[in-house]
Amino acid sequence: GTPRGSEAKPEGQSSKLIRYRGFRPPVHFIYQAPGGDHHQPGARGGRSMASEKDAALAPVPNDNPTIFDKIIKKEIPSTVVYEDEKVLAFRDINPQAPTHIVIIPKVKDGLTGLSKAEERHVEILGCLLYAAKVIAKQEGLEDGYRIVINDGPSGCQSVYHIHVHLLGGRQMNWPPG
Ligand code: 5GP
Repeated sequence: GTPRGSEAKPEGQSSKLIRYRGFRPPVHFIYQAPGGDHHQPGARGGRSMASEKDAALAPVPNDNPTIFDKIIKKEIPSTVVYEDEKVLAFRDINPQAPTHIVIIPKVKDGLTGLSKAEERHVEILGCLLYAAKVIAKQEGLEDGYRIVINDGPSGCQSVYHIHVHLLGGRQMNWPPG
């Protein structure tokens, strides 16, 4: 049969993997707990940069409904700052700047992230960026602002419904983390 010497260590490797996976925060509980104070701005008490990264590494990218669908349907509260036929924008629950707004398409249409964009998405992608410009003006960000689209685990994406982050109200740094 297959030699199972001490150098093979299959059990050791898998328990290491399980430990690592166990270390990740249960992001579905963080983002999808039903209603309550949980979704009030600041209720999470602000996560550290490391836990933002952990939250982004936890979910397996997929096209399932996300917390943003509940926000669109007003099943959970959010502070909406802009809305039109195609786009909804609301304040991020865990702001990374004095102004931090999340801008999303009301219909996801398979656009879980930018990397899934196809020709048919060109219009909505333009609408999201144009809404960002309008909202930045509305928010009084005359001196400038930062637009971010995180994509996939390496891009620290945690919600798989494409969104544009609008960040402003403080000096941004470059390079980003
Ligand atoms: P990502 O990490 O995927 O680029 O961005 C997702 C963003 O959505 C994060 O900045 C996160 O704080 C925000 N977010 C997640 N859940 C909620 C929620 O229930 N309400 C609001 N307003 N923002 C949320």
